[in-house]
Amino acid sequence: MTTTAWPRKATTATLTLLLTLGAAIGLGNTATAQQPGPRGYATVILAPHQDDEILRLAGYILYASDQGDDLALVTATDGGATAVRQKLDLAYDQTVEWRNREQAAAWAWLTDGRGQEPINLGFPDGAVQVDQIVAELDRLYAEMPGKPELYVATWHHDRPESKPGHSGDQHPDHVATVQAARIMAAKGVTVRYALHPGKVNSMSGTRYEATTPHQKERLAAAIRSYGTIGKRSVSALFNQLQANNGRSRVTW
Ligand SMILES: [Zn+2]
Repeated sequence: MTTTAWPRKATTATLTLLLTLGAAIGLGNTATAQQPGPRGYATVILAPHQDDEILRLAGYILYASDQGDDLALVTATDGGATAVRQKLDLAYDQTVEWRNREQAAAWAWLTDGRGQEPINLGFPDGAVQVDQIVAELDRLYAEMPGKPELYVATWHHDRPESKPGHSGDQHPDHVATVQAARIMAAKGVTVRYALHPGKVNSMSGTRYEATTPHQKERLAAAIRSYGTIGKRSVSALFNQLQANNGRSRVTW
C-alpha cells in the first residue's frame, strides 16, 4: 500500500481501489496528482447525503471551480434510505450505486471536470455517528497539504433560524455532520455552513450563484443528472435551485 499524495484525480486504477476497498481514503495514484489551483485554495465539501452538495452549494462549487480551486467532495452516508428505492423497486446496494452515479455526474458538471473524484464514506443512511465522520476527515486531512477549508452542505440544527420545520437541518445525519464539522473547527480547520435551499433568500450570508451562460448550462446539466433519484425525492427543492440559479448562502 502506498501513501497517496493529495490532490488525487480519478483514474481507472484509483476507482478500482475505491470500489474494492470501500471508503478508501488513503489510497490512490500519485502519478496523477494535480497542481493546486491559481488561487491556491483547496476546499473539502462535506455532504450528509448525495444531493445535499448540489442543493446547498451548487453556486459555490460553480464559482470555486472557475477560480481554479482544488475541490474535493466527501459524502458521509450511503444514501440508501431514500423512499425512491421502493418506487423504483431497487435493491439497497443498487440504490447506493445509482445515487453515487448521479452525484458523480452532477459533480463533474458543477466542477467542469476539475474536481477530485467524489468520496462516499458509506455509513448507513440515517445512522451515521459523529466520531465516524471525524475519523475519516482526520485521515483525509492528514494526507492533504495545508488545511483546506471545510464547506458543510447543511446548517446549524441548534440555531433558532433552523427551527421549526426545516427538517433538512434537523435530520440526524445532518446533525451529526454539523457536530463533526465543529470538532474539525476546534482542530483549526476553517469551516463554513450552507443554508437550506428554502432559506437562501431570507437569511444573510455570502451568496454564490451561477452568473455566466456556461455556469448556467453546467447547473442545468447537473440538475438533470439528478433526475433518476434526487429529483424524484425532493423535486420542489431542485425546482427552486434551478429558479435561483443554484444560489448558495454560506455562513459561519
Ligand atoms: Zn441530506
